Amino acid sequence: MKHSGLITFLMISGLVLGALFGQYVLFNPDDLIPTNHWTKEVGTLILIRPLMMLIVPLVFVSVTLAMTTIGDPAKLGLLGGSTLLFYIVTMVCAATLGAIIVTTFRPGDLPPETRAAMTARAEADYTASDVVANVEQARKESKTSMGGAWMNLLQQLIPTNVVKDMAEGRTLGVIAFAILFGLALAVGGEPCRPAVAVLEAAFNAILRMISWVMWAAPVGVFLLVAASVGRVGLGALSGPLMWFMLIVIGGVATFGVVVLPAVLLIFGRTNPGRFAWQMRGALLTAFGTASSSATMPITMENCVTEGGCSRRATNFVVPLGATVNMNGTALFEAVAVIFLCQLYGIDLTFGEVLIVVMTAALAAIGAAGIPAAGLVTMVIVIGAVNKALVARGQPTLPESAIGVIIGVDRILDMCRTTLNVWGDMVGAKIMTRLAPDDVEEREKALS
Ligand code: ASP
Repeated sequence: MKHSGLITFLMISGLVLGALFGQYVLFNPDDLIPTNHWTKEVGTLILIRPLMMLIVPLVFVSVTLAMTTIGDPAKLGLLGGSTLLFYIVTMVCAATLGAIIVTTFRPGDLPPETRAAMTARAEADYTASDVVANVEQARKESKTSMGGAWMNLLQQLIPTNVVKDMAEGRTLGVIAFAILFGLALAVGGEPCRPAVAVLEAAFNAILRMISWVMWAAPVGVFLLVAASVGRVGLGALSGPLMWFMLIVIGGVATFGVVVLPAVLLIFGRTNPGRFAWQMRGALLTAFGTASSSATMPITMENCVTEGGCSRRATNFVVPLGATVNMNGTALFEAVAVIFLCQLYGIDLTFGEVLIVVMTAALAAIGAAGIPAAGLVTMVIVIGAVNKALVARGQPTLPESAIGVIIGVDRILDMCRTTLNVWGDMVGAKIMTRLAPDDVEEREKALS
């Protein structure tokens, strides 16, 4: 069995065994395991932290190299513009799909006593969760309003101290710096060649480091999935949130299995089934870790070594995608906010559903690629729809309504993160047509 085949087998086994271990050994509805249970701590230690360690050097080196090899500024503009367009259009489509399904099936129309019981506990569950602290932090940084969130993104794009951004893991600033640095190296010509050669060597070394970390993935996935299932229990899938969860999972599956593959087939001229199989390592890691940032090194390694994506496209599209492209999060936020409105008896007009769709897509751009980030940026969507409700003299949706879904979020997070990562990889494959590698360079990469 080839190495990648063995790792896949071990990862799938880790995932299944982790779910069984979580359900039958750890889960106890009367005594929930703590959020910092040892399974989560050890899983984070052996898989998430080593992956996170590689992110900043990888983003810096890969984006710089992408800029040096694209060369022609017109081509760069075309690639950058097409990538952003692809990301924004797919996110709006994902949020629209979510809104259509949730307004059709109306999972929030539950019997009045069930609704009363769910909403009564929401505030306490919300206040007791870690999400509140993150929302408060985001509020302090004025990131909970649409204007504030966009200003924040723009500020990240023009960092005052890129070393500080690197130290704090803010990749947008690192990407912006690397774009300029790479362009400067490209324009610099011959005297800059040694720097490019060093970066090429560093990139190959980082790819090798990623392949080492991948050996820890099966155990990491086992522990992280055990921690998630052990806390929520698979029974949540049959509780009062069953239809909400099935709609999120069904929407994510439809977008990932039907919509994106169709886009890949049409614009990337690629067999989607085969490409998804080549990307299995990253998809399984995304599912296990619920973090598209942590998965990014593996996403890149899979794209370059197995998926036949060009280094030029991958090096630019994947780091940017891991930061801004979140199809699953956009879909989830739209479904969740409309579902909560249904549960709280708030009727949304067509225009208000449209506001939810647009703000969900935009809020998802601002969401970090870490677990539960989508719950934090959901506050932006709630704020936007509440503004419209106030203007209509209607009751508003309390922010604490998020508490209703906090308990089951992790399982949904694992699914939406997988879609987020799949969207990045589809983007890299499509953009490979715009930015192919030179033949010799490709052969070198694959040898
Ligand atoms: N966990 C997701 C990600 O890393 C973000 C979210 O919470 O939706 O992509």
